[in-house]
Amino acid sequence: MAKLTRQIDDAVLVAPGAKSQLRKRATVADDIFPDREAAEDATKENARAIDALQDALWAERRHSVLVILQGIDTSGKDGTVRGVFNRCGPLGVAVTAFGRPSDEELAHDFLWRVHMAAPKRGMIGVFNRSQYEDVLVVKVRGLAPPEVVEQRYDEINAFEKHLTDNGVCVLKFMLNISKDEQRERLQARLDDPKKNWKFNASDLEDRKLWDDYQRAYEIALDRCSTEHAPWRVVPADRKWQRNAIIAAVVRKELEDMAPVYPKPDWKPSDFQIT
Ligand code: AMP
Ligand code: MG
Repeated sequence: MAKLTRQIDDAVLVAPGAKSQLRKRATVADDIFPDREAAEDATKENARAIDALQDALWAERRHSVLVILQGIDTSGKDGTVRGVFNRCGPLGVAVTAFGRPSDEELAHDFLWRVHMAAPKRGMIGVFNRSQYEDVLVVKVRGLAPPEVVEQRYDEINAFEKHLTDNGVCVLKFMLNISKDEQRERLQARLDDPKKNWKFNASDLEDRKLWDDYQRAYEIALDRCSTEHAPWRVVPADRKWQRNAIIAAVVRKELEDMAPVYPKPDWKPSDFQIT
């Protein structure tokens, strides 16, 4: 287990202060998880362990975990939530998806809505998109002036430092798919009636901006992979590898947090149930 998570982090972690070199990063992980069945079994076992650890996290009520999922359209953010947190009780996991900001949200600073959704002590919070959209889509589509975007990297780092200083373990995953894989997944949304609902013509506009998005991601990874909240770039062309990697990392981080059940200040033998 420790050996595997070390192998994973050697492959996926963006070392703080180093260049992320997104273009050179793998979108498949055959060296880490060559066998599909074994990977799926490991994911199931890790998902069960995550649930048990979250139970202790809640009992202890000292720390929380924030899992941030970022990735281009079709990269598998929803699928990751389903595949990795499906064993967790619904009381323990709070998933928040961030779409286009409402008028109310736009009337506040960009971190306002994000901070409101941060997990309280004992919880696992999962963000499907996050504060990073404000340096990704906003940068690529020019939705805010460049100098406003520019200052956000430092603001995000300070915000995440604030969270980690206050008991939140921040885990950031960029789901890295290839452009070919995206074509296939978008095509499936046209071909499969059960997937038609997922198709959004604006995704094709974003696909035309693929290189711009890659560059924006690279800058965000370069500037916001910190000691307190490092980025991991997860090979995501194969869904079962993606899930296996993320489940293993989340479990390992929870184990390192080592939540313990509190000891009551009374003895069970003090009470008699009649
Ligand atoms: P989806 O995740 O497919 O439901 O789409 C959500 C959409 O909201 C995506 O196109 C995002 O780029 C967009 N979005 C999320 N956050 C922001 C933001 N801060 N500003 C503008 N668009 C955003
Ligand atoms: Mg979309």
